[in-house]
Amino acid sequence: MNVEEIIGKVVRGEIKLHQVEKYTDGNKKLATEIRRKALERKFGIKLDNIGHYSIDPNLLIGKNIENMIGVVQIPMGVAGPLKINGEYAKGEFYIPLATTEGALVASVNRGCSTLTAAGGVKTTLIDDKMTRAPLLKCPDARRAREIAQWVRENLQYLQEKAVSKVTKHGKLKGVKPYIVGNNLYLRFEFETGDAMGMNMVTISSEEIMKVVEEKFPDVKYLALSGNLCVDKKPNAMNFINGRGKSVIAEAVIPREIVERKLKTTPELIAEVNYRKNLIGSAQAASYGFNAHFGNIVGAIFLATGQDEAQITEGSHGITLAEVTPKGDLYISITMPSLEIGTVGGGTRVPTQREALSIMGVAGGGNAKKFAEIIAGTVLAGELSLLAAIAAKHLAKAHKELGR
Ligand code: NAP
Repeated sequence: MNVEEIIGKVVRGEIKLHQVEKYTDGNKKLATEIRRKALERKFGIKLDNIGHYSIDPNLLIGKNIENMIGVVQIPMGVAGPLKINGEYAKGEFYIPLATTEGALVASVNRGCSTLTAAGGVKTTLIDDKMTRAPLLKCPDARRAREIAQWVRENLQYLQEKAVSKVTKHGKLKGVKPYIVGNNLYLRFEFETGDAMGMNMVTISSEEIMKVVEEKFPDVKYLALSGNLCVDKKPNAMNFINGRGKSVIAEAVIPREIVERKLKTTPELIAEVNYRKNLIGSAQAASYGFNAHFGNIVGAIFLATGQDEAQITEGSHGITLAEVTPKGDLYISITMPSLEIGTVGGGTRVPTQREALSIMGVAGGGNAKKFAEIIAGTVLAGELSLLAAIAAKHLAKAHKELGR
């Protein structure tokens, strides 16, 4: 069958979108073109921009995407330099930000410039784990408690019998059991090396469940995720217990720099933060006691091939701002659940890998450094936005840069 005939059959639904590769001898680039052309013909539209790209579908289909028709292009800007005095990230960094929100990159850039002038950002990783929480239906709560106890006491055994069979970098390091009636949720905690780790911990948890089911035939393993993981949903669990990297970024900015660069004062920034990010967020029962973590996390996630649905948990966290006894500004951000990786998932897509390379974090050995860079950048974004609100510059900036 020639290409024209295949397109015709796709348009008429005689070949399903996911079946096209069968007719292209496994040529995924050609299958991508065929699906896109079929849509163009079916709807009488042109998809020239979606069809304009340099990355090879043969690398991506079956690993990162199905039914591929092309790519979406999101403009990418860069902010920096940002000086980071971290334990893993040390030096000045330029941060790629993919967004269509005018004024965002400019604002983060202003924050970077202010923080760098003040001597930089101090970053501290306080926890690092990826979680999966399978669900077991037990005869009753007492049996659930017994099984939870056995699992707690046998982590090393489960690592050897289950986890090490399926991954080299994945290590089972803990479990927090939750019991509701006759339901047992085992929130497993893993080290995942430089991978964000969701595939790794999902596959590992399934292996663990096989061992548990064999040992306790009276329980029913019902779901690989019992929703206490918690993945891709706003939740108190990750806010309190952390997931992925838990990281803090702090800085002290001399009053003179706040006044000169941000056109406001430490007092006003601290007051806006208190009344907006703390009281306002409390009234809204928000998990985001911050101005816009999601903006910066989202733009970096899209640029670097992170799982975009995890921007949800990346937006959790608290911004603090205080006036120091010397009259300077202390500002910090605390991010409990920053789920990121520098290998695996979307980080293997060539454009995203290039974006990681701008920060020197493409590939293994870099995940903690990357987490510190993101935290530093989030601090820059918080500082700049709080200052803009305090100085009443926010609407003006958006009028000039956002429309
Ligand atoms: P992955 O690409 O599935 O796994 C990472 C791979 O990299 C493993 O094969 C690992 O080998 C290898 N690796 C090489 N060097 C490594 C290093 N230094 N550190 C860690 N691993 C290294 O990625 P993942 O992070 O586990 O999963 C991310 C993907 O999961 C994303 O695409 C995300 O969208 C998706 N996701 C899946 C689920 C789910 O339920 N399955 C949920 C949410 C998101 P070893 O394993 O042998 O160590």
